[in-house]
Amino acid sequence: MTEPFELLRTWDGLATVLRFEPHSGAWIVIALHDRTLGSPTGGSRMKSYPSLSDAIVDAQRLAAGMTAKWAGIDRPYGGGKAVLMIPRPLDAATRRSLLTGYRDVLRGLEGGFRTGPDMGTTPEDMAFLAQACASVMGIHPETGKPLDPGPFTAQGVLAGIRAAVAHAFDGATLSGRRILIQGVGDVGEPLARGLAEAGATVLISDLDPARSEKLAQMIGGRTVDPEAVFTMECDVYAPCAVGATVDEASVAEMRCAIVAGSANNQLATDRDAERLAARGILYAPDWVINAGGALAYADLRAGTTDTDQLLSDVDRTIGAAVEAVFHTAHEEGITSLEAARRRAERRLSQARK
Ligand code: NAD
Repeated sequence: MTEPFELLRTWDGLATVLRFEPHSGAWIVIALHDRTLGSPTGGSRMKSYPSLSDAIVDAQRLAAGMTAKWAGIDRPYGGGKAVLMIPRPLDAATRRSLLTGYRDVLRGLEGGFRTGPDMGTTPEDMAFLAQACASVMGIHPETGKPLDPGPFTAQGVLAGIRAAVAHAFDGATLSGRRILIQGVGDVGEPLARGLAEAGATVLISDLDPARSEKLAQMIGGRTVDPEAVFTMECDVYAPCAVGATVDEASVAEMRCAIVAGSANNQLATDRDAERLAARGILYAPDWVINAGGALAYADLRAGTTDTDQLLSDVDRTIGAAVEAVFHTAHEEGITSLEAARRRAERRLSQARK
């Protein structure tokens, strides 16, 4: 693995901020990628890594992804991401020390990086940071409570699935469509409810069978063995659990028409976008369809405080963004992944001009 200084030297982003927090033994890494559209903004991930270099690479890669994500939904933020690299799981007091140190760094950046929850951090962690730092997104200005991004992300995925179904089947109705959700946690559960309400036949798969069975009973869905996800015939496969589930082997097995879900980094490699296209499977690029939580946070900061209004903004914006990606892909004869990249790049170059 490349040395940390070499990673700082060769990165094409704006800056990578590093701080060691001695009490927890954690490294705080903040990658600031781009500020063409606005202040670098992205989640705070808390995780163990094999080395500091791995943490820096992850933060820089995720920050670049945020630049494209904000451009894709046309909100005035730039790309940034924080990684809190912990040496081991932390007890509550040590975690608090780390968050306090992190808060000091955020305050030092004076709004030069804005953040919200991500893998390993919670809305409650964000509420703690927000007590003495104005750089935290997603705190409701009236209640002072952190907003759970999951239901907003789910609403965006629902809108994206609707757009994908309309594109693939020439009709926007979800009624009667078989939709398989892999992972029914913070995003997958509200998505399953929304799809069931829209009349879809919902197939649920989760590593926790108690969770999937309970939800299936509540919404009148069916459970699917996690091992059988790719061989199950369905209209839409919605990965809402972990990344890299779409690879050469799974694409060859898939019996669906559409891949559209919330999981980050669904494709094991970019080549998998071509593999899906070659099999005639429509793919909704993950960083476009899963931007509902980020969008709700941006709209909340811009002054929209009503939950229904936030949900309807997410529905409209993500639905339109996913539809536009499919349209561009079709018009330009390229994969949906490439189309999403070109749309984001176009937005950034307009702003640069
Ligand atoms: P979560 O941890 O709340 O839920 C994940 C669920 O997936 C759990 O129920 C878990 O048991 C299940 N699971 C894990 N591995 C599985 C497997 N191999 N097969 C079936 N089920 C499996 O996570 P979440 O917040 O719902 O996020 C889901 C995905 O969406 C993640 O990839 C996350 O990065 C991404 N995402 C989430 C948000 C958000 O707002 N929460 C926003 C953007 C992207």
